[in-house]
Amino acid sequence: MDEECIFCKIASKKIQTKFIGESENFISFPDKNPKSKGHALVVSKRHYQTALDMPDELYSEMFSIAKKIMAYNIKNNKATGFNLVINNFKSAGQVINHVHLHVIPRYNGKKINVLDI
Ligand code: 5GP
Ligand code: ZN
Repeated sequence: MDEECIFCKIASKKIQTKFIGESENFISFPDKNPKSKGHALVVSKRHYQTALDMPDELYSEMFSIAKKIMAYNIKNNKATGFNLVINNFKSAGQVINHVHLHVIPRYNGKKINVLDI
């Protein structure tokens, strides 16, 4: 746990947020500045700065959670597509230095720049 890290605080429930789900190694919750309806973050419970630091064996768990969120949004929010994005390092737009996967539902006709999140 990084004492200064907001996602570590959320993961350890020191800061309350509306959770979407929790698994052995991840939590998911809505992005506080959603780019679209249902924009969620899948966040490792342990502090890894980027996807480079995250152990290989956690990748399938991370993406299977993203799949569940996608299925939910297609069924319940009428999403018509998805972007999955991980920003790694500042030059790629990473602001929170704790690895997280953006699950961004897309809706027919609505344009957003998913490389600027
Ligand atoms: P990054 O650019 O690092 O990939 O994205 C960080 C994301 O985390 C942003 O989309 C931002 O809105 C979201 N975020 C930052 N702080 C918080 C927070 O305290 N709570 C929640 N739910 N989302 C946050
Ligand atoms: Zn952290």
